[in-house]
Amino acid sequence: MKKDDLIVLKIEDMGINGEGIGKLDGFPFFVKDAVTGDVVEAKVMKMKKGYGYARLLNIVEPSAMRREPKCAYARQCGGCQLQALAYAAQLDYKARKIQNNLIRIGGFEGMSKPEIIGMDEPWRYRNKAQFPFGTDRSGNTVTGFYAARSHTIIPSTECWLGAEENRLVLEKVLAHMKKYRVSAYDEKSGQGLVRHVLIRKGFSTGEIMVCLILNGRRMKALEELAKSLCRIPGMTSITVNVNMENTNVIMGKEILPVWGQEYITDMIGDIRYRISPLSFYQVNPVQTEKLYETALEYADLKGTETVWDLYCGIGTISLFLAKRAGQVYGVEIVPEAIEDARENTRINGIRNAEFFVGKAEEVLPQKYEEEGIRADVIVVDPPRKGCDPAALQTMVRMQPERIVYVSCDSATLARDLKYLCQEGYEVRKVKGCDMFPWTVHVETVCLLSRKAQ
Ligand code: SAH
Repeated sequence: MKKDDLIVLKIEDMGINGEGIGKLDGFPFFVKDAVTGDVVEAKVMKMKKGYGYARLLNIVEPSAMRREPKCAYARQCGGCQLQALAYAAQLDYKARKIQNNLIRIGGFEGMSKPEIIGMDEPWRYRNKAQFPFGTDRSGNTVTGFYAARSHTIIPSTECWLGAEENRLVLEKVLAHMKKYRVSAYDEKSGQGLVRHVLIRKGFSTGEIMVCLILNGRRMKALEELAKSLCRIPGMTSITVNVNMENTNVIMGKEILPVWGQEYITDMIGDIRYRISPLSFYQVNPVQTEKLYETALEYADLKGTETVWDLYCGIGTISLFLAKRAGQVYGVEIVPEAIEDARENTRINGIRNAEFFVGKAEEVLPQKYEEEGIRADVIVVDPPRKGCDPAALQTMVRMQPERIVYVSCDSATLARDLKYLCQEGYEVRKVKGCDMFPWTVHVETVCLLSRKAQ
């Protein structure tokens, strides 16, 4: 086999990035946009030592699990990878992804396929969107989505995962930029003003936030744009975020108020949360509630326990647990998120939650060694890279009865579970939660308990 050869493959499995995998005389090929069960004609693009990449040309025989993507840009866009796969098959794919990582990376042989909580209505679930702005070849300002593995913008103001109001906001911003000749930021030269527009919506309150991320502090006739935006029903907060760095990190550190409040509020279960532009907030509130219910069930609180919530964001899980715990401590690295967490504690009338700004791997050892604070239950919800070894070591030394691990990357989860299980814990329960339908991502929640000595 060599580059440009045409091959016919039966797709038997799907890889971690959602590509179809089919074998030719035992030699595996990855074919993007092909799904399990398809028979496809493909063109060899690249040959590696033990595998190859091929481009989908024709579907010779469609899989029974194949569906027509709802979005016209599903194949180009980097956002969704599984729009051609029936929803039930996606859930199975995600359950197997968790299982495979736990077996392969964690060494948990015999781990069965976990139950996975799916969505009843898996569209328009995202409460947050960050649209990049740029200039097309003819010099027009465009916004839309990055194509897969690139920063080329596919112009589109419509996405089936996001809120319907996003389109209204984007059209108003585009029209304003055209009228006043406001430039879009250009990553290569570092010139131009508008980098991204962040839109968030509190699904249970209807409140909307727009944050314009600028390579500067001012925009022409900003008050006029704000006046137009604030006519969108639900508009609550309009701000500017200043990001003058040459970086692909979206947000800068400084927030300037433009109109309304500097935050929106939303509810998960019966807890009200205040959310600032810089704070992390779960993007799928419907599934978040199910995820937190599972975390709460796994924590199995009786009302007297001391609970730590590491990587706590705006205190979402902490406050969810506080009503059943004796005392909750949250740790989070972003100062604005901790401000939100404290405010959230206050507005919900909660008295048994305390929050610390800092790295989990520094705050936890310090509080444990210098102040002797203990833990009955520790909940962790780290970013994709998982927990820092120093955090894990301290967790083990604190000897909590239970650890509830919430993870958005089952590969780093498996790595961390392996360590915890070498140090006296055992995995008792694992459940998946589909927070990101049509993408390859999946959230996992896991209960560990301390082995009897
Ligand atoms: N539990 C929260 C947030 C989870 S996202 C929720 O469910 O909403 C992970 C959080 O970890 C983010 O808020 C991020 O800012 C924070 N974070 C990243 N690295 C950290 C570290 N080393 N120590 C503490 N928090 C960290």
